[in-house]
Amino acid sequence: MNMEATSPPVSGHGPDPSIQQVTVVGCGTMGNGIAQVFATCGYQVELVDLSAPALEKAINTIARNLDRVVAKGSLDQESRDAALARIHTGTSLAAAAQTADLVVEAATENRQIKLELFRQLDQLCPPPCILATNTSSISITDIAGATGRPSKVIGMHFMNPVPVMKLVEIIKGYNTDPGVTATIVEVSRRLGKIPVEANDYPGFVANRILMPMINEAVHTLFEGVAGVAEIDTVMKLGMAHPMGPLQLADFIGLDVCLAILRVLHEGFGQPKYAPCPLLVKMVSSGNLGVKTGKGFYAYQAGSKDLVVAPEFSGSV
Ligand code: NAD
Repeated sequence: MNMEATSPPVSGHGPDPSIQQVTVVGCGTMGNGIAQVFATCGYQVELVDLSAPALEKAINTIARNLDRVVAKGSLDQESRDAALARIHTGTSLAAAAQTADLVVEAATENRQIKLELFRQLDQLCPPPCILATNTSSISITDIAGATGRPSKVIGMHFMNPVPVMKLVEIIKGYNTDPGVTATIVEVSRRLGKIPVEANDYPGFVANRILMPMINEAVHTLFEGVAGVAEIDTVMKLGMAHPMGPLQLADFIGLDVCLAILRVLHEGFGQPKYAPCPLLVKMVSSGNLGVKTGKGFYAYQAGSKDLVVAPEFSGSV
C-alpha cells in the first residue's frame, strides 16, 4: 500500500439528509483524514483541537492530499476547493459542537480524555446529535456512560490512512440504539466506505487481532530473533501483508499501539496481551514512529526511503 497516496473520494450520494454538519474532535493522524473524507463527500465540517498549530498542520496536510487527488485526475480543482472550504477549524469545542448533527471524536487514545470530552459534548451538542468515537479500543459503553444519551453513542472506527482505507468498524455499545447504528452504517456508505458491525469488547475485531501480532513482532525484535527489516520482510513477502508489522506500528503511532495493548491486557486480564518492554521503553523515550520522525524506522521529511532507525541498524 502506498501510504502517500490518497484514493479518489468515492461517493455519488452526497450527505445523508439527517446529517449535514459534522464535528471532528482531534486533528492528528486520524482526525485530519476523517475531516477530509467528510468534506469531500459534501458534509460541512468543524475540525476542533486543543492545539492551533496542530490545526494549521492538519489543514496543510488535507490540502496536500487533495492536491494529489487532483493531480491524479480523480477530482477537479473546483471540487477540491469546495471540499477545503467546507472545513472550518477552531480550538473551541463549544463553538464547534453547537450545531453538530454528528460528532466524530478522534482525540488522543486515553480513557480519561475521552470520558471528559464526551461529558462536555453531551452538554454542548443539540439533543439529537449522535456522538461517535474513533477509539481503537476503549469501551463504547464506558464512554457512553459519561453522557446522558448513551443510546446515541457509538464507535465509528476508521482505518489509517482514512482517505485510502475502505473499512469502517462500527461498534455498538451496550445501549446504542439500533436506529443510530443504521444511521452510521448509512453515513459510512455515503462516504464510500464499507461498514462492518461489531460488539463492544476490548479491541473490538480489528485491534484484538492486529495488536497481538504487532506486539509479537516487537518481542521477536526484542529477543534478537531477527532485525527490523527482516521481520517486516518476512511478513510482507511471506504473508502477503502490504506493510510489515513494525512499519505499521510506526505508522499507527507507538503510543497508540501501547494504549490499545494496555486496554486489551486490562480488559481480558490475560498475560498474552502484556505490551513488550521494548515498546514501553520506546514510547517513554518519545520515539513514537512516523509522527515524531523516529520509531523502528527513521523518517526524513520528503523522503520515501524506508531506513531502519540507527538503534536497530546493527545485525542481530
Ligand atoms: P494523534 O496523537 O495523532 O492526535 C490526537 C489529537 O487529539 C492531537 O492533535 C491532540 O492535540 C488532540 N486532542 C487531545 N485531547 C483533546 C481534546 N480534549 N480536545 C480536542 N483535541 C484533543 O492520535 P491519532 O492517531 O489521530 O488517534 C486519534 C484516535 O483515533 C485515537 O482514539 C486512536 O486510538 C484512534 N485511531 C488511531 C489510528 C491510527 O492508526 N493512528 C487508527 C484508528 C483509530
